[in-house]
Amino acid sequence: MTCELWFSEYQTKSLKLSSKIKDVLFTGKSEYQEIQILDTITFGRALVLDNTFQTTEKDEFIYHELITHPALFTHPNPKKVLVIGGGDGGTVREVVKHDTVEKVDFVELDRMVVEVCKKYLPSLSCQIDNERVNTIFTDGIKYVAQCKEKYDVIIVDCPDPVGPAKGLFEREFYKNLYNCLNEDGLMIQQTESPLFNRDLILNIKTYLKEAGFNIIKPLVYAIPTYPSGFWSFTLASKKYNPLDVSPEKIKEKLKSIETKYYDEDVHRGVFLAVPKFLKEDK
Ligand code: SAM
Repeated sequence: MTCELWFSEYQTKSLKLSSKIKDVLFTGKSEYQEIQILDTITFGRALVLDNTFQTTEKDEFIYHELITHPALFTHPNPKKVLVIGGGDGGTVREVVKHDTVEKVDFVELDRMVVEVCKKYLPSLSCQIDNERVNTIFTDGIKYVAQCKEKYDVIIVDCPDPVGPAKGLFEREFYKNLYNCLNEDGLMIQQTESPLFNRDLILNIKTYLKEAGFNIIKPLVYAIPTYPSGFWSFTLASKKYNPLDVSPEKIKEKLKSIETKYYDEDVHRGVFLAVPKFLKEDK
């Protein structure tokens, strides 16, 4: 008799993603969520929170490069960066590739996620202890509401808008983000599936406009382990437009930054290939 081990995520009530797994490397429950590290056959090791894929060794570079570099290359001189969420460390790893960055405040709710990822996902978490990274274990929603600091770039690497992450998608949060940014600052956030969550993305756009951002641009890309395989970020900027950054400048800077997905063509492409149904206001 052969015995197969499978993990299934209910992506919606009527859609499952199932992955055959070699092993369950970690399973535990923090104050906030259930945490698992699975060793999958197709995607390598995966971080799963409350039965939802967060990141996998196979496709993480697509997500982490695109949540970081389009924003950091749009700002001409990013020195101070705030990362909210992103407990696996993949975003922080990409941010510290920019040598203009002097300080990264890394605000993650759940200490256990960081500890588990340090142990089981070292290719993602490898820069969390970088001397420029200041890890703060607290709620990102409260942090920006009380924050006296000003940042050049804020990256919101959040899970789905449920539980403690719900408030990271609400009107008040975007007002506070705006106030935490310098006069020429910009932010980017994980904003779910264009196909399944169009209304959410359009609401976020409205909240960002209300908060005072001048330039608001969704960017889209494919990622196999998230619902529909089609995913988005939204970038909002006070001053700089990502489409004004010259390809030559990106090419030059990339000589000292190693990427597998992002380059000067991808920088423009992710913003330009936004589907018509996301451009239309409600
Ligand atoms: N790439 C992922 C995705 O799209 O699903 C997100 C990955 S990252 C692991 C998300 C992190 O956000 C988790 O570690 C979680 O603990 C953290 N988080 C959730 N709510 C938060 C909050 N209010 N403040 C700070 N971190 C939060």
